[in-house]
Amino acid sequence: MQTIHMCDTYGQYLTMKKEIDAAMQEVIKSTQFIKSGKVLEFEKELSHYLNTHVIACGNGTDALQIALMALELKPGDEVITTPFTFIATVEVLALLGLKPVFADVDTGTFNLSENEVKKAITTKTKAILPVHLFGQCAHLEPMLDLAQKHHLYVVEDACQALGTDYIFSNDTTKKAGTIGHVGCNSFFPSKNLGAFGDGGAVFTNDEKLAAIVRSIANHGMKQKYQYERIGVNSRLDSIQAAVLSVKLKYFEKHIKARRYAAAWYDEHLKKIEEIRLPERVNYSTHTFHQYTIQTNRRNELQQFLKEKGIPSMVYYPGVIHLQEAYKFLGHGKGDFPVSEHLAETVLSLPMHTELTEEQLDYITRVIQEFFRKKN
Ligand SMILES: *Cc1c(COP(=O)(O)O)cnc(C)c1O
Repeated sequence: MQTIHMCDTYGQYLTMKKEIDAAMQEVIKSTQFIKSGKVLEFEKELSHYLNTHVIACGNGTDALQIALMALELKPGDEVITTPFTFIATVEVLALLGLKPVFADVDTGTFNLSENEVKKAITTKTKAILPVHLFGQCAHLEPMLDLAQKHHLYVVEDACQALGTDYIFSNDTTKKAGTIGHVGCNSFFPSKNLGAFGDGGAVFTNDEKLAAIVRSIANHGMKQKYQYERIGVNSRLDSIQAAVLSVKLKYFEKHIKARRYAAAWYDEHLKKIEEIRLPERVNYSTHTFHQYTIQTNRRNELQQFLKEKGIPSMVYYPGVIHLQEAYKFLGHGKGDFPVSEHLAETVLSLPMHTELTEEQLDYITRVIQEFFRKKN
């Protein structure tokens, strides 16, 4: 059996090698490494897939920062978000002088709980920033209602959920990241659609906002050497765009492969009482950026898997409100108990598009063996 990887970027590349190599060579020959037609082409293709405006940028963290800058939030404005996420979600708020206000998550889905969001709203709240963690959407519809009632923006951190469908109560669907006022995505190599380096994008249905986002990502430029606002330098380079264009063609196939692996895990782990499987919901599909289980014997299980040659990861071992850098927010242990508990019990299993049945079979057998052993 081949070595099991947490994420198999190279194995996936080999399945598209000819096309990717040719696309990269084309960029090298053109020497248009920055701001070429390749970037615009990729934006157009993704825009078609998502049915929204797409503005490419340097990475997912930049996408979040640019999106928040475009909404013209003012220092001191409060933004409600989750303490159980990647640091970037909260970091950009702090960098812009906005106040991160945490609301706890739901145990089964790892995503912001709408009831906790409701409790966190004050007269200073200006936006809600849900994260679609591990590839499944947060419960957006009630948050959109809250946002409308309180005149708030909804900014989606969709960095882990490209391709996921949100299902509204009237059965219409929209892609993750295209539902709120603005959505943010990352093309970090291990993400659902991964580049061979950094990349990101901002999504919005609002044409005016799209133009502002594009200007901010390009030094606040209006036309050449005329600057209408203070911006940043954040761009997707042409080689990344060329790689992403090839990979986008196979994106649905890749999502299917992730779902196949997830279904295998579900089927072969469901009888183990000491494991809680990732919960599925009727308002979202799942693209399994990660397949994350919960168990009170997390550290022990991780060690056992490691001894058997199976990688696993803890996303995330620490909650943000207890990180040293965010002490200034004045939180203590016990403030967001669900998130804190998750940080101690979650374990993400190998998840990528190249997992074979033989590998999946081995992984689930080893996990079964672990739980058959006495504590
Ligand atoms: C990956 C990620 C980001 C940041 O993306 P980068 O491209 O690494 O800057 C932000 N939020 C979440 C939830 C992520 O998973």
